[in-house]
Amino acid sequence: MPGPDFILETEAVEYLKRFQIAYPEHRLARTPDEAAAAAAQIGFPVVLKIVSPQVVHKSEVGGVAVELGSAEEVRLKAAGILETVQRNIPNAVIEGLLVCAQAKPGVEVIVGGLRDAIFGPAVMVGLGGIFTEILKDVTFRVYPLSEEEALKMLGELKGYPLLTGARGQKAVDLKALAVLAVSVARMMHECPEVAELDLNPVLAYPEGLMPVDARLSVTEKN
Ligand code: ADP
Ligand code: MG
Repeated sequence: MPGPDFILETEAVEYLKRFQIAYPEHRLARTPDEAAAAAAQIGFPVVLKIVSPQVVHKSEVGGVAVELGSAEEVRLKAAGILETVQRNIPNAVIEGLLVCAQAKPGVEVIVGGLRDAIFGPAVMVGLGGIFTEILKDVTFRVYPLSEEEALKMLGELKGYPLLTGARGQKAVDLKALAVLAVSVARMMHECPEVAELDLNPVLAYPEGLMPVDARLSVTEKN
């Protein structure tokens, strides 16, 4: 049986839309000139990301640039990314570059959907960055998930004080995070072909949130 396949981020975003999950305004550009034109339409600053089925961890291969403030900068960086990724992964088929509105900074959270062999659709939430990678500060629930239960998940995180306003920061919108976790649980339940979803990071704000990276794998049906 073939393993799960990652779909393009542009396709992952279609799944997000179906479940009312936000994603920054974006366009797919094929060339540096197209990227510059798309950025001018979206408005600055923008982020550029490589779109290729062979590239799963984009920053690791030089496939992401943030804080681009002008069309000229976008054109230069776009050319640089295309060249660097092609050099790092010579067999990569490059579909283009995703030009995204840059979201304002927030507390980095990760929200994931997965499928447990025994319990089926499940959701993971955690604090982003070193909290996930080094401290493994994550928590899981299986479908169905209520908003109340999703709030309890957040409360279980060791990094919870970062969400409720540690060090004089404002608390983030816990309800918006809970709603997002519930939406991901629904996606895992309603879309059996989805093997795994990774929203990493989701930027959490005092009001609302914005997922800025969506990685989704699907299992071949036959
Ligand atoms: P990777 O495949 O390497 O995980 P990401 O899409 O997560 O690539 O981009 C790398 C980093 O760039 C993110 O962790 C985030 O900090 C930043 N980033 C990406 N897209 C945006 C965006 N639209 N707005 C703000 N920051 C972004
Ligand atoms: Mg990411």
